[in-house]
Amino acid sequence: MSVTWQVRHSGIWQLTSAVLSDGHEALIIDPGYFPRELAELQTLVQVPPSACRVVFTHGHWDHVVGWQAFAPSQVLLNVRLRDAIAEQSTLAHKNLRDAQDFDRKWYVDRGAPLAWPPTDRLCGLRDGDSFSIGTETVSVLQLPGHSEDGLALHLPTSGLLIVGDYLSPCEIPFVEDLSAYRQTLHTLCAMSQNAQTVFPGHGPPLSAQQALQIAQEDLRYLDALSDCAARSDLASALRIKLPRGQDNPEMLAHHQDNCRNAGLQSE
Ligand SMILES: [Zn+2]
Repeated sequence: MSVTWQVRHSGIWQLTSAVLSDGHEALIIDPGYFPRELAELQTLVQVPPSACRVVFTHGHWDHVVGWQAFAPSQVLLNVRLRDAIAEQSTLAHKNLRDAQDFDRKWYVDRGAPLAWPPTDRLCGLRDGDSFSIGTETVSVLQLPGHSEDGLALHLPTSGLLIVGDYLSPCEIPFVEDLSAYRQTLHTLCAMSQNAQTVFPGHGPPLSAQQALQIAQEDLRYLDALSDCAARSDLASALRIKLPRGQDNPEMLAHHQDNCRNAGLQSE
């Protein structure tokens, strides 16, 4: 039986959660965010918990809070994130604390404290790894740039490409490592040509053409930022036209963060 997919978007930032299933087992990607949204996702899963695996596309807090709703047999994630959780790193603590802070601020009641999955249920994935769901092979790519623990999944038979926090039609790139981000976008330009459907971490599924267009817009933006960084020209960098959300104060603030992360400091 071929793999089918269903996707839902959270009330927070249009976070994408997806359920992939062949009728016997399920992969649940970035389940989130609010309890009633997780309850709806549970209704989409028609297999027992022992046949469920959760995937974290990366470790940012909005993507990692929902696994407990599924009691999955395994959580698949970038090996770097697995190691960060196992070592209880500062970053792993911060990601969980950010989720706890958000929940406290908005009175989100989960009925149980947030936690990372137990380490014996974590399955670390590396670039070039593959695994299967039913008869379908899932290929793994590392996607650094937004975070060092980014992961993409490619299901060539279904034509699905799941990219985490890249190629969003809702937001500009949030850059941690500019050079790595640009390289990742070049990789995604090539990959999306072979996809029928691309799931960004925030916003609706994209056709290959839409994904390619966003990748090219984001590359133009980041190339301009890189040119400014090479000249240490913060004033010009702050005037770069954003690929989207030009009139959104949140995106303008993220653009300033991107300038800072590209090495451009205001005095
Ligand atoms: Zn993220």
